[in-house]
Amino acid sequence: GIAAGALALTACAGGTTAGGSGSGGGKGDGGLIGVAMPTKSSERWIQDGNAVKKALEDQGYKVDLQYAEDDIPTQVSQIENMITKGAEALIVASIDGTTLTEALQNAADADIPVIAYDRLIKGTENVDYYATFDNQLVGNQQAWTVLNGLGLTDLEGKPVADAPKGPFNIELFAGSLDDNNAFFFFNGAMDVLKPYIEDGTLVVKSGQTSIEQAATLRWDGETAQSRMEDILTANYSDGTKVDAVLSPYDGISRGIISALSDAGYSVGDEWPIISGQDAEVDSVKAILSGEQYATIFKDTRELAKVAAGMAVDVLNDEKPEVNDEKTYDNDVKVVPSYLLAPVPVVKDNVKSALVDTGYWTADELGL
Ligand code: BGC
Repeated sequence: GIAAGALALTACAGGTTAGGSGSGGGKGDGGLIGVAMPTKSSERWIQDGNAVKKALEDQGYKVDLQYAEDDIPTQVSQIENMITKGAEALIVASIDGTTLTEALQNAADADIPVIAYDRLIKGTENVDYYATFDNQLVGNQQAWTVLNGLGLTDLEGKPVADAPKGPFNIELFAGSLDDNNAFFFFNGAMDVLKPYIEDGTLVVKSGQTSIEQAATLRWDGETAQSRMEDILTANYSDGTKVDAVLSPYDGISRGIISALSDAGYSVGDEWPIISGQDAEVDSVKAILSGEQYATIFKDTRELAKVAAGMAVDVLNDEKPEVNDEKTYDNDVKVVPSYLLAPVPVVKDNVKSALVDTGYWTADELGL
């Protein structure tokens, strides 16, 4: 993994200070940068948007920050508007990674560089750089937290001596199939879980093991809740219990938790191990209360710095630093990427990972 401290330094070094060049109107001297975010319905994107805006404003840029409430045409028209308003660069966290081709062609025609933010933009050559986390590792970590909660491994997937034999009943959830990340998370998790499923330690009672079966459109918590309700009705009415649920995102985990408590599960001995992602406040509280076992913390402040630094570098005709030039093939090109390191969080390290780093205050988490 990459140390967060080192990353913070790289991100700063990558961002050349703008605003000192005197006359207005040229590149890199404080023009407008468009920032397109998917939705405000999830806390993380609000953190992301604010952090990108601040990082750019600190370097003298003006920022047009827009949220599209998970509506694809809205996001497309927001991007078109940014181009019309004269944005010099675009930073885009897409809703559906395949729907921006036309808008980004217009950006390219106007010589506007594009940075893909967190989610890969697919099917176009008009995306210059990609700032994200090591998404395969996120998936591995989600599976490791599940195995850890069941007493099978440590948080890095190392088997524990004298581990229980199981079998454990597990159900699997994936994210939205129009988001490239969903595949990295699910495949990363399944790489880890498959051997345990194959040797019978883990049993997927519903039989729903493909990403298509496990998917959750738009990462929607209520959609996940009703799928979990259906699974419980169809497969667990005989009194057998779910021991674990692989969940790719805190909002989905909250839906799963509601389905479980509605079905009569209560926190304690028989409450399942549930994973998550994003360290959202309510979910960190759920970790502290034992409803959720783990989340994956991705420091949006660092991601924002990297993405803002990339945009500023390109505007200053400098080459942004990347650390991966092979993983993120968008079907037209491999997009040069900078991957940050995700951090698994369980009850034990909530304080060190989230409070001591200043991401959330003790107060916000009710500590
Ligand atoms: C992000 C995750 C997030 C999910 C739902 C993904 O693209 O990488 O951090 O949980 O979208 O918003």
